[in-house]
Amino acid sequence: MALTKEALQALVALQSKDKHLDSIQKEIDAVPPRIAALKADLEGEKRHMDAAKAKIVELEKKKKSKELDVAAKEEAARKHAAQLNDLKSNDAYKAMQAEIEAEKAAAGAIETEILQFMEEIDKARAEEKAATAEFKKTEEFSKKDLERLEAEQSHAKGRFETAKVERDAAAAAVGAAEMKVYNHIRGRGKPDAVVPVVAGHCGSCQINLTPGLILEVAKLKSLVTCESCQRILYKPELLAAAAA
Ligand SMILES: [Zn+2]
Repeated sequence: MALTKEALQALVALQSKDKHLDSIQKEIDAVPPRIAALKADLEGEKRHMDAAKAKIVELEKKKKSKELDVAAKEEAARKHAAQLNDLKSNDAYKAMQAEIEAEKAAAGAIETEILQFMEEIDKARAEEKAATAEFKKTEEFSKKDLERLEAEQSHAKGRFETAKVERDAAAAAVGAAEMKVYNHIRGRGKPDAVVPVVAGHCGSCQINLTPGLILEVAKLKSLVTCESCQRILYKPELLAAAAA
């Protein structure tokens, strides 16, 4: 295809605008994962706090159940004590007394367990207090971070719009045929579609270019692509001369 210095220059100019646009897009794309990470952090703190709260509820429930056990044992001991005087035989009396002692001992043992639960509840409350404070702190910080990230994103989007107008203006100066090749290369994951010839090498893949190919590039008569990486080649010194 026919080519002029100006056409190739327009392509290089477009690439520079596209690079700028790409870098802003990268900034924009980097924001959502950071927001997601902030939210995940906060959710983690919340789960920790909720677990601490749930632990207190569970311990309180266990303690309550033990308290009911103690009351039942004490009630049984009281009932049996009231029945003592009605017993006729000495053996039955002694057996009942032993039972009452066993019930009182059981109640005492459960009281000890209750004391242990109370200690555990105190510890759980302290943990819950720390977890809540940690959550509140993270919540406050992440709110600020979130606002900052959203501002960053909005600012980047504004810059993108400006850069996009400049990019489109640069694109308007590129011929349809060159644009087709350029877009094709970029579409294949090569954002640096136009590369300089550097000391006889392709500026991107570094392959040694044949003198014949370099000559073709220098002629500026047609679009020449690297045989290895298929990028468009140009000689910067020639374009600079054309620009001047
Ligand atoms: Zn190459």
